[in-house]
Amino acid sequence: MTSDYRQARYDEALLVERADSRKIEDNPLPSSIAREEAPKIPDLPKHEVVRYFNRLSQMNYGIDTGFYPLGSCTMKYNPKFTEKIASHSKATDLHPYQPEDMVQGTLEIMYELQELLAELGGMDSVSLQPAAGAHGEITGLMIAHQYHKDNDEERKEVILPDTAHGTNPASVSMLGYDLVEIPSEDGCVDIEALEEAVGDDTAAFMITNPNTLGLFEKDACQIAEIIHEAGGLLYYDGANLNAIMGKTDPGAMNFDIMHFNLHKTFSTPHGGGGPGSGPVGVTEEFASYLPVPIVDKDSEGYHLNYDLDNSIGRVKGLYGNWLVLLKAYTYIKKKGKDGLEEATERAVLNSNYLRKKLEPYLDLPYRELRKHEFVLSGKKMKDKGLKTTDLAKRLLDYGFHAPTIYFPQLVDEALMIEPTETETKETLDGFTEAVASIIEEDEEVIGEAPHNTAVGRVDETKAIRDSVLSYKMREE
Ligand SMILES: *Cc1c(COP(=O)(O)O)cnc(C)c1O
Repeated sequence: MTSDYRQARYDEALLVERADSRKIEDNPLPSSIAREEAPKIPDLPKHEVVRYFNRLSQMNYGIDTGFYPLGSCTMKYNPKFTEKIASHSKATDLHPYQPEDMVQGTLEIMYELQELLAELGGMDSVSLQPAAGAHGEITGLMIAHQYHKDNDEERKEVILPDTAHGTNPASVSMLGYDLVEIPSEDGCVDIEALEEAVGDDTAAFMITNPNTLGLFEKDACQIAEIIHEAGGLLYYDGANLNAIMGKTDPGAMNFDIMHFNLHKTFSTPHGGGGPGSGPVGVTEEFASYLPVPIVDKDSEGYHLNYDLDNSIGRVKGLYGNWLVLLKAYTYIKKKGKDGLEEATERAVLNSNYLRKKLEPYLDLPYRELRKHEFVLSGKKMKDKGLKTTDLAKRLLDYGFHAPTIYFPQLVDEALMIEPTETETKETLDGFTEAVASIIEEDEEVIGEAPHNTAVGRVDETKAIRDSVLSYKMREE
């Protein structure tokens, strides 16, 4: 394995910088809604614009370019047939205010997707409204909050394990709950610590299972018992169902509320900045609390139901992200139960295969079998005066996207790797060879990587502290 990957590198000026801007003559908009100053439209031949965007795409890296083992993100290859269906004019040309009798097919698909997701999650009802995983978390916690309120209880705390994904504590804080973080024991929830933390103030416990170390929390049912006994609710962060589909489900583990990330497990790319979809599922007891509308069915057809007794209200405009819903529906229907189960088996097999292959080269904390992902430690890099981030940057020169790094935080110099079910043995072997080759390289080569990409090492601290987020900001 050699670092002979080369990313295209163009000196590409922005379109607005290389052309005369053209005013829109005869603005067709009524003056009441037209901007005073017409937007600047760069005046360029069409093919220049096509080349511009093609060249930008060649300086980019995505799942259609190569292996993208970003842990907790499920960067699987997304089949193109779902894109084809979602770009059909019958799907894209709908107007959200069309009357129900004109969109019965759309509502039927949404209704069936609610049912399919409920079955996959072991839940009784699903709302397709939330637009992302974190949005699903907020929605779920609002349901828990409303439920306790209706029981005249003011519970102030939400408990999380220290393996929790970053969005979990963020959602907890946004709703004004106090965060109680409990430590892990051998990578899983420390039951004693949980028993100590739980009490009359516990509103909910949030967890993802398998957790972010890729370990299955085998005490899930005991955890549920402890929380329920104290009057708290169980929230399942189902951002990533790649390890359990068709094998088990949050309902079987006695969870009350959960979300799904359609843009991880169900065929919409994750990480491109959206749009996503994070439907929320609940058991029967909480069905009347879901955000509205949900899609109902009666003898006359399908309807948007805005009338749920205890609904937390609206969390998103109109239908939710319909085209993402359609892709998930297409994917689930095409795969079928057996296909989804097979995806799970392959995801877990690929993860354990790669873990075994990489073990001779990097440290593996917590030695048990993993599910869909695993976490290694790059602390060995310290011997060279380097860090995990240097290893991650150098992988780019070999044509591989870096894994997730420095998360979860309880692992020193963490590298979190999720190969997903769609990768071949050859790709996983190639990735292993790249890691094996890098750890033998000179410090300078690794420390200054990447060398072969369109953009070299960036100053990440400056990027955060001194963000330039728009062209206007740059001009200023
Ligand atoms: C990705 C992820 C989330 C958040 O999903 P977003 O759609 O990015 O908001 C939550 N929990 C886990 C475990 C995740 O991997």
